[in-house]
Amino acid sequence: MADSIQYESLIKIVYIDNKINHHLKNIEEEKNRVKLLVEQHKCKSTTLSSKNVDLGRCNHSLEEKGPELKKIDEQYNRNKKSLAASTSSSAINYIEKQLSEISQKKKKLESEILELMEKTEKSSLEIKDVEQHILSLESAIKEISDEVEVKVKDQVQQISQYESEQSLLLEGLTRELRTLYNIVITKYRFKNPLARVVNNHCNQCFIQIAFEDIINLDRGKVIVTCHRCGRILLPSSFS
Ligand SMILES: [Zn+2]
Repeated sequence: MADSIQYESLIKIVYIDNKINHHLKNIEEEKNRVKLLVEQHKCKSTTLSSKNVDLGRCNHSLEEKGPELKKIDEQYNRNKKSLAASTSSSAINYIEKQLSEISQKKKKLESEILELMEKTEKSSLEIKDVEQHILSLESAIKEISDEVEVKVKDQVQQISQYESEQSLLLEGLTRELRTLYNIVITKYRFKNPLARVVNNHCNQCFIQIAFEDIINLDRGKVIVTCHRCGRILLPSSFS
């Protein structure tokens, strides 16, 4: 009878262990919800800073190209005046050729400026979009973190209750059984370190258990472990 009580405690210990693992898994899942958002936030922040760098480059180019265009304009106007004042055909030809070259340069510069302006506008809109996304992520992180904190606290409390219950049960085991249980769970890391004997076989690894072992196990005289998987075997009365 004493042994039967011990096995019942062992079954409860394993049951509690699974409950604790279930809560630990829940805690991890809850924490992952925040982790995922934090990763997204990090990714968006990187995108934002690279977009800001691009925008800065575009603005810098625009700042450079403005005076460049002004200079070309002045050059063009100067040539126009010279053309009006010129009388010789060779001078007129020369100035007209220069005017055409300046005009081409101006067109090229103007199209570059236009392109940069479009890029700047597009970039600014994209930055605004990313900034809004970051803000919404920040408020989601705050909201979910608060929710997760409450849930985790609750799970931790439940784990702590289970742990006290489990440690009382462990203390109630004979030293032999407690030592064996600790060895089995640390050595093999089984989700269930117990096995039942079903039709003379271990119900976890399916190896046949020697008849003599079953008899001894059922008599409650010795603790028997499965010689293949190492689990602690439960007497037939628990099958
Ligand atoms: Zn086995």
